[in-house]
Amino acid sequence: MRYSVGVDIGGTNIKLALCDKKARLRGKRTFSTTGFKDRSALIDGIVSRIEELISGAGLKKREIIGVGIGAPGAVDIRTGTVHYLTNIPDWREVPLGNTLKKRLGIPVFVDNDVNVMALGEVYFGAGKGAVNMLCITLGTGVGGGLILDGKLYRGSSYAAGEFGHIPINIDGPKCKCGSWACVEAYAGNSYIVKDVIARIRSGQKTLITKLVEGDLSKVTPEIISEAARKNDKFAKQVWIDVGQMIGIGLAGVVNLLNVEKIVIGGGVAGAGKRLFDSIKKAIKLRAMKLPAKTVKIVKAKLGYDAGLIGAATLVLYELHHTPWRTPRGNSLA
Ligand SMILES: [Zn+2]
Repeated sequence: MRYSVGVDIGGTNIKLALCDKKARLRGKRTFSTTGFKDRSALIDGIVSRIEELISGAGLKKREIIGVGIGAPGAVDIRTGTVHYLTNIPDWREVPLGNTLKKRLGIPVFVDNDVNVMALGEVYFGAGKGAVNMLCITLGTGVGGGLILDGKLYRGSSYAAGEFGHIPINIDGPKCKCGSWACVEAYAGNSYIVKDVIARIRSGQKTLITKLVEGDLSKVTPEIISEAARKNDKFAKQVWIDVGQMIGIGLAGVVNLLNVEKIVIGGGVAGAGKRLFDSIKKAIKLRAMKLPAKTVKIVKAKLGYDAGLIGAATLVLYELHHTPWRTPRGNSLA
């Protein structure tokens, strides 16, 4: 049995694990990025943890086919350059992939975290076998990864797939990307919460106020979902509205790309059927008939470990991938 190593770099934590060719994880561990004073300390930390992971499992480096890393933001895949890491002050344009390859002596591949998640879902999860697919994640941000013609589509400067930053209105809330009225400015966690708090402050009656015992700083998407489950009219409407904005953005994607599947993952996707129904309704209403009929909207399958499995899948993709086939059997290679 040969393994790849998956490394999932998040805002505050780094997770890593060995992964076999069937996406089964072994020796999973997590460490915080906050204890590292600068980029070289963090790189040292990643190297030693990968080496510990391999030797701890009784394996030799030659038994590892490669290391796959998912990192936030745009990644230059030629050098594995990660532009920013929020918790590491001097982290700017660091060629993480090339550096780790030299230090470890095994192949290292780095890509954007949602791109690798899309690969994980299309190899092992809800997107299995899809030739054209968009994978989106709903959380603090709204991310996207695109599979087109059986390949990961990265774009001309490796920045493609940013579904969350498609503008869907002339005017609207400011977005952290510098623009405004992006999908994320309506459907990102912090924007949803901010809007709910503002409406409660201006007199909206809702069960949410009771659930946080009047302390509005405690409002979270989970609390809004809880209130919706308990039949609170306002909370239910919040998810319907959020779903509508996501669906409008997706209607554009459906018309532009005629994808067969849209896989939705991340925390807010936990808002459940109400959110999904609203997304589907908006697509049906706004997209053109034929592509709207073709597309299936499904929930991501890989759950909490999606980033880790995706990172490990990147190794399989880079080393062994040939574009897969259309449903009609025409090779797309
Ligand atoms: Zn934006």
